[in-house]
Amino acid sequence: MQIERKMKQQREAHPGWASEIAQLPGCEKLFSCIQCGTCSGTCPLSIYMDYTPRRIINLVREGFQEEALASQTIWLCASCYSCAARCPQKIQLTDVMYSLKREAIKKKLFPKRFPIPVLASEFHKMVAKRGRSSEMWLVMRMALKSNPMILLTMMGTGWQLFRTGRMSLRMEKIDRVHELPHKSVGATEVH
Ligand code: SF4
Ligand code: SF4
Repeated sequence: MQIERKMKQQREAHPGWASEIAQLPGCEKLFSCIQCGTCSGTCPLSIYMDYTPRRIINLVREGFQEEALASQTIWLCASCYSCAARCPQKIQLTDVMYSLKREAIKKKLFPKRFPIPVLASEFHKMVAKRGRSSEMWLVMRMALKSNPMILLTMMGTGWQLFRTGRMSLRMEKIDRVHELPHKSVGATEVH
């Protein structure tokens, strides 16, 4: 059974992928990880993650693209930089997480119905098109494309913000929006 599992894992791995990731900004030291686990022990969110930061590094190095990119871990990372500050190998794990997020959106590999990648994608699309993000519409799009039920839990706060003039229904747009540099950050459609 263990041999079958190992063979299946080997079939699913993408051996060249780790080298591609190691070319991305902040990921250059990927292969110098000594798997000491300091990052996982330091990370305030690792208890909520499906793979600890140390395991994410290992998955990437072994070429397990789907597991790493579809993990909740990369989206739960709060960019607090604790791991990067304590890593004995000076690996910029926060930047690795950013690169993996961009890869996940580009390859459309992320946890289904998980709101954070949807929010990131919708935010980028809105800003690229209008030069501004309109909070209410951003939250609406995020909820409708991930989990519409969360709108029920937000209705009370939303109404208070609207009533006190802190949130507008208007979609803002800047002048000369076409002059914005249009960079592809992999913000493709997220469904
Ligand atoms: S702290 Fe650095 S060397 Fe240690 S497991 Fe994490 S990334 Fe690897
Ligand atoms: S930057 Fe992300 S992975 Fe690193 S300790 Fe903070 S939350 Fe955890």
